[in-house]
Amino acid sequence: MTQITDHLTKVRERVANAASVAGRDADSITIVAVSKKQPTAAIIAAYESGQRDFGENFVQEAIGKIETLDLTGVRWHFIGHVQGNKTKDIARYFDWVHTVDRLKIAQRLSDQRPHYAAPLNICIQVNLAEEPQKSGIPASELATLATQLRLLPRLRLRGLMTIPPADADLVTVRKLFGGLRHLKEQLMQRGFELDTLSMGMSADLEIAVQSGSTMVRIGTAIFGARS
Ligand SMILES: *Cc1c(COP(=O)(O)O)cnc(C)c1O
Repeated sequence: MTQITDHLTKVRERVANAASVAGRDADSITIVAVSKKQPTAAIIAAYESGQRDFGENFVQEAIGKIETLDLTGVRWHFIGHVQGNKTKDIARYFDWVHTVDRLKIAQRLSDQRPHYAAPLNICIQVNLAEEPQKSGIPASELATLATQLRLLPRLRLRGLMTIPPADADLVTVRKLFGGLRHLKEQLMQRGFELDTLSMGMSADLEIAVQSGSTMVRIGTAIFGARS
């Protein structure tokens, strides 16, 4: 598990270098450690190295870990596909949901967010490459969904998230990340107060940081291959 500490140090260095190239403050970028399919010992190792943001994709797996670990000061990010029958658990256990792409889901998350908890932080997932099988709304529907989300009292719309196609080359990835940044700026011109661009994974975090990412979601570069 000491490997995880080394890996985390390397990822922090990659973020810092990319930020410096882009003339940005590295502190403006949050590393979300994606711990799906990783054992709790791996999460503890990262936690002990100062990591506080963790991303999970599968609700049942995540709840098991969240309850067992009971770590103070951790922010749990849901980054998987949101199913309608899982919204109650997501609203209860998570601090962030990066993958909201339809009103129905957003309404349920708002209705089911416990009264004792702060509003749930939300990113709208945009399917920029318009891949048919992929979650996320097309860019053309973003403004409508954002406007509807603004009316939901227990949600706080923070920004946008995207996942480039798995086979996209770096030029395409850069274009897509730039596109997401542009969409965020357009919403801000319409009066939305957004501070988050959730983009960048292990293989493309430098491009993401140079394109304005504020949250990179890093799995394998921290934890190694998933079981
Ligand atoms: C698994 C996953 C990641 C992490 O990917 P790595 O390539 O392992 O860094 C990031 N974002 C989402 C949405 C994921 O599902």
